[in-house]
Amino acid sequence: MPAILIHIAFGYIIYRIISHFFPNFQKNIYLFLFLLGSLIPDTKYFVAWITYFIFGNENYYVLSSLFVTHQIFGSLLISLFLSATLFRKIFFRSFLILTIGFLGHFLLDISQYPLAHINHLLLLYPFSGEIFYINLGFFENIALFEILQYVILMIAIIFGILEICKNSLRVFISKIFAICKLKKKFDKK
Ligand SMILES: [Zn+2]
Repeated sequence: MPAILIHIAFGYIIYRIISHFFPNFQKNIYLFLFLLGSLIPDTKYFVAWITYFIFGNENYYVLSSLFVTHQIFGSLLISLFLSATLFRKIFFRSFLILTIGFLGHFLLDISQYPLAHINHLLLLYPFSGEIFYINLGFFENIALFEILQYVILMIAIIFGILEICKNSLRVFISKIFAICKLKKKFDKK
């Protein structure tokens, strides 16, 4: 399981790429859904943390019964549930985005082989015990996956900075236009 931060960063990158090609998706709600989707498989950890804070232990019964959230079928059910309840007004879109988000999560998880926990590679469990993995290998004793994580984080930061620059440039240009308009009005008077 890569750090939650890396999953969020990857979800953000997917959002930026998709919303670039499909401008209809350039909305904060869709950004939120991409980020949420990228965390869905780890639902069991969030529940475990909550039980830890409430009961003072990690409550392994809860944790193991939620094991199913970290498989394609379980994540699909959670996405369906969220889209049909919280996001029912945009049901199809939210279901699609959450699904893309959690598939991105699994893609990252399986490329962590052989460092990943075996439970994170059983994507079709309980229907199949097949292990899915992408072996990125090692370079001079450093797992390439570790480097990939930094690359993902850096790309997400660059995308974020570009977005901020683009927005401030837009504001700056619209201010200049407004000033020019005002000036024209004054000149007419
Ligand atoms: Zn995971």
